[in-house]
This record gives sequence, structure tokens and C-alpha cells, in this order.
Amino acid sequence: MNIYNRTIKIEIPTRARQVLDSIRGAGFEAFVVGGCVRDSVMGKVPHDWDITTNALPEDIIAIFTRTIPTGIQHGTVTVIIDNEAFEVTTYRLDGDYLDMRRPRTVSYSQKLEDDLSRRDFTINAMAYNDQLGLVDRFGGLEDIENKLVRCVGEPDKRFNEDALRILRALRFSAKLSFDIEGATMESIRRNSANIEKVSMERINTEFEGIIKANTNKLSLINDLDIRAYLFGDFVFNQADLTRAMKLEDIASDEGYLQASKRAMVFNHYRGDLKGLLRFFKYSKKDIDKTIFIWTTLRDDKYADLLNENATWDDLRLTLKLVLRDARDNILAKYAIYAKIIEKYANIGLIFNLFNDIIETGECFSVSHLQISGRDIIDEGLAMGKEVGILLDALLCQVISQPQLNEKKRLLEMARKIQKQ
Ligand code: ATP
Ligand code: MG
Repeated sequence: MNIYNRTIKIEIPTRARQVLDSIRGAGFEAFVVGGCVRDSVMGKVPHDWDITTNALPEDIIAIFTRTIPTGIQHGTVTVIIDNEAFEVTTYRLDGDYLDMRRPRTVSYSQKLEDDLSRRDFTINAMAYNDQLGLVDRFGGLEDIENKLVRCVGEPDKRFNEDALRILRALRFSAKLSFDIEGATMESIRRNSANIEKVSMERINTEFEGIIKANTNKLSLINDLDIRAYLFGDFVFNQADLTRAMKLEDIASDEGYLQASKRAMVFNHYRGDLKGLLRFFKYSKKDIDKTIFIWTTLRDDKYADLLNENATWDDLRLTLKLVLRDARDNILAKYAIYAKIIEKYANIGLIFNLFNDIIETGECFSVSHLQISGRDIIDEGLAMGKEVGILLDALLCQVISQPQLNEKKRLLEMARKIQKQ
């Protein structure tokens, strides 16, 4: 196979080219490599430009004025040019994988081919520079043409070295809309129980990548041993996965959108989802968002959002209830969207109603009440924890009858409640 392809031209941005030129000027080889080459060949704009070189980390540190030893133990130095960061990694030959997590030894190499051969998939194992053109040792270009995710080398060996590559295969397949090549897929089936040896943080990153790119690809996990380890008895529900895809239409806030999709793919999860998300090492913020949306999806309290006979007033009331529970307008908005995704063809109507409630200053939170905790205490109506409970009881009434939101009336109501 001719591994050099000079007919392909990649337009390397100025600063990345500057990094390549400086390394070359110091007498070393340097190429852009991995995701940026794959994306360029596919006509996409890469989000970052990784560089591979035979120069050692200390050489890189000596060549450039601004460097950060971000991953020095893996041979990676970050080079900063005009505030843009480039990861420069020395050609590596990974040693034995003892624990299937990370290579026992990382040894540097002088050969680009060594570095390409340690990479996961053929589409990710191409390098490029202006002098040699595209270096494609494993047929990555052909696999891109055929839309295939294929292991570099022997799949069983590669998935045994690092079982995270199984989820990475699904992630690239989701992101690029590629199939997983036959032998690679068979090997995934054989080796997927090995995922137990991979850290949850790494799993989380790839899992989120799949959710972000194409939730439908999660159905592949249903047939793999990975499923039992990660999710127990749970199997992804195809209808939920498709719904999660539809949520893409509201892509205004990445974090909330991702939480909505996450909640939706677990819509039929019957266990302790919070516990599962903790096991997956999600942040508390992400867990809270996901759980709120997930709870909204299944909560009867908001049934009017799905009720054929609900009037605008009913819907208005329900939306205020969601707003009250969410304590965050954006979260409420995403939760509602997830809940009603299939019911309202014209989602805009619901959002107009939603925005109207917020803009007209209708009361849906204790802070909107015309009475404060201070007032309750001063009137001797309650103390300590009771204050909050009482305010909440008042809020419930005001949500359904906005005209009650007036200080005198509220105090009267509070007295009545406390007498009961
Ligand atoms: P993305 O655009 O999604 O970031 P990427 O190809 O840059 O895609 P990264 O996860 O950033 O993916 O990894 C960068 C490169 O490092 C990959 O293209 C691949 O060559 C290599 N790589 C990353 N993880 C592994 C792994 N677990 N095993 C082998 N090679 C890997
Ligand atoms: Mg990357």
C-alpha cells in the first residue's frame, strides 16, 4: 500500500503551521494528526489541531517560548501561540497494557508509523504535513469513503489493551454516522465485558459523546455485555432514544440540552437514577438537572401538559407548577419540552405561554409573593422551618389564584392556615 497521498491537500491554519514549521526548523519531523486530519479530509472544520513529532518533550519546551507540560508523562506538551493551545506529542509506542487502562510503559519512537499504529481507528490514524502530504498507513481514507470505523491492527488485541475503545467506536459511529466494520463489531461483542476495567471518568466522556451525537446508537449497547455492567437490567427503549434525538431542535443551551437528552434516554429506567448517575461520576449540577427533567417526564402532577382536554388556563397553571418546582426558568423550559415533545406539533404555542407567564410577572416562586419570611415572623405566625412551609402553602394558592397575591390577603390566609 502506498502510504503517502499527495493529491490530498489540507489547509492547516496559520498558527498550527507555525508550530509545525518551528519544530521542522529545529531539525525534527512534525505532522498534524488524528481528529483534525480525519475532519479535514471529510470537509469539516477541526475543533483543534494535534501535532505529533519525533522531538522529545524537552526539545519542544526548548523550541517554544510558551509551553505547559500538560501530559508530560505521555509525552505531551501544550504549546501556546497567541493564546491558542496546541498539544504536541512525541511519537509513542505504547507498551504492554497490564490493567487495560493505560500502557505500563510509554516509550518514545523515532518513527511516525509506530505512533500511527498505536491509535485506535484507521480514520484516526492519519497524519499530514505540507512536505509529505497525507500519511495513511492503515487505509483510513478508504474507510472514510466507505464510512467505516475499523480498528488499527487486530481488533481483539486492541480492545483488550483498552476496552474504552469499544465506547469510542460507538461514539465515532454516532458522531460521523459511520458503520462499525464487521470484524471490529464482532470483536466488540466478544470483548465488551472488559469495560469493567476502565475508569468511570473515561466511560462518562465517551457516553456523553454518544448522547450528544446520536442517541439512537445507544441501542447497540443493549446487545453488549457492557449493558449489564453499566445499567443492570435496563435496556434502552427505542422510542425514548428517538425522542431524545428530536430534542436536538432546541439546541440553545448545550448543558441543558444534554441533560434533557440524558433524562430522556433513561425515561424508562426504573431504578435509582440518581445513584446510577453518581456511579457514572456526573457532577452534582448535572445530576440535579437530569433528575429534575426525568422526574418531570414521569410526574402525574404535570399531566395537564399531555391532557387533550386541558384549557389554556390549565396549561398556564401547570407551567407555573413546573416553574415553581424547577427554581430555574431554563431548566423548566427544557423539562417541559422533553415532556411534551410529541404532543404539540407547534411547540411555539407552549413557549409563548411560558414566556408570557415569566414576562407578565406572574407568581410562581416564593420570592414573587407580596409577603416575605420577615412579615410572617413579625406577625408571630411562624418561626424557623415553619416559615418556609407556610410561604410555600401560600404560593400554592397564589399559583392557581393570582389575584390573591396581595399582602393583606396573604396575611389573612396565613393566619387561617396556622389556625387549622
Ligand atoms: P474529537 O474530534 O471527537 O475530539 P479525536 O479524534 O480528536 O476526535 P480524541 O479523543 O480527542 O479524538 O483523541 C485524539 C486522538 O488520539 C484520536 O484521533 C486517536 O488517534 C488517539 N486516541 C485517543 N484515545 C485513544 C485510545 N483510547 N486508544 C488509541 N488511540 C486513541
Ligand atoms: Mg480531539
